[in-house]
Amino acid sequence: MVAFSVTNKENLHNCKRTVRSRVENLLSTFGLDYGETMKAMREHNAIISGSSALTVLFTDGFQPGDVDFYVGREGMAGFLAWLEANTEYRTVIRNTLVDPNDWYSPGRHGIHDVKWLEDNATGMKMNVVTTQDPCPVSVIFQFYTTLSMNVISWAGVGCAYPSLTTKRLGVLVGKELKENTRVQGRVKKATERGFTIASSWDEDMVVKALGPHECDSGRVCPRGVRNLRSNRGLLWMTLDRWEEGEMQRVMPNVSWMMMDGRTCGDEIAPVRRSTRAQRAREQDV
Ligand SMILES: [Zn+2]
Repeated sequence: MVAFSVTNKENLHNCKRTVRSRVENLLSTFGLDYGETMKAMREHNAIISGSSALTVLFTDGFQPGDVDFYVGREGMAGFLAWLEANTEYRTVIRNTLVDPNDWYSPGRHGIHDVKWLEDNATGMKMNVVTTQDPCPVSVIFQFYTTLSMNVISWAGVGCAYPSLTTKRLGVLVGKELKENTRVQGRVKKATERGFTIASSWDEDMVVKALGPHECDSGRVCPRGVRNLRSNRGLLWMTLDRWEEGEMQRVMPNVSWMMMDGRTCGDEIAPVRRSTRAQRAREQDV
């Protein structure tokens, strides 16, 4: 994606403008005002994730079926009140039963509660999800694939796995999910939209997309613990005046680990050998 190009100041400036206009377009598709929505998201600690956060990363973004807001418990009442007062969205009761096996159902994967809203006039749909964690951004690390680990916050757009996501590629968070019918349905939908979701980090296309890299450092390497406040956090494309350094400071201190101490392909084998040798030497002492 062009927006990830930060080779010089002009590019960076263009990138901010591009990302901002994509977010503006997205919100306006759903009948939401950019300035007002960003203000409300900041005030009530809400973020956007899901397919609508994914679509703003691409020039040829698809049309998401709904927009998903994620709000911490404390901000929920205020955010819903803001929606009622300032938008046409109203809570609807779903006739269909909630499938408890769905990844995104209440009580599972960091989700406390889900409210479905609809704009009666336009038929546009919105999901407002209360997260179990007070910091809604934490929820993205419990999604079933790295492809969904993107957010739109009031300050910027963040992507956890840019080296894969920009190649329209994601990885399931567990190999066993390949057999889960709910996940299969979602993977199929992603495929229809031109994305690929691999079942494991060992798959050739994943290793190839990650490329040769220094392991355990930077955002390319999926291995080990990463933290939102470090340079292994999300890749942020800031909107307006926010600079990336500032972004890191306003982020909650959240760590996550997606890939345990396995290798990222053959390229890094020498690094692992030297690490083991070092450990052995330490034991000898
Ligand atoms: Zn690595």
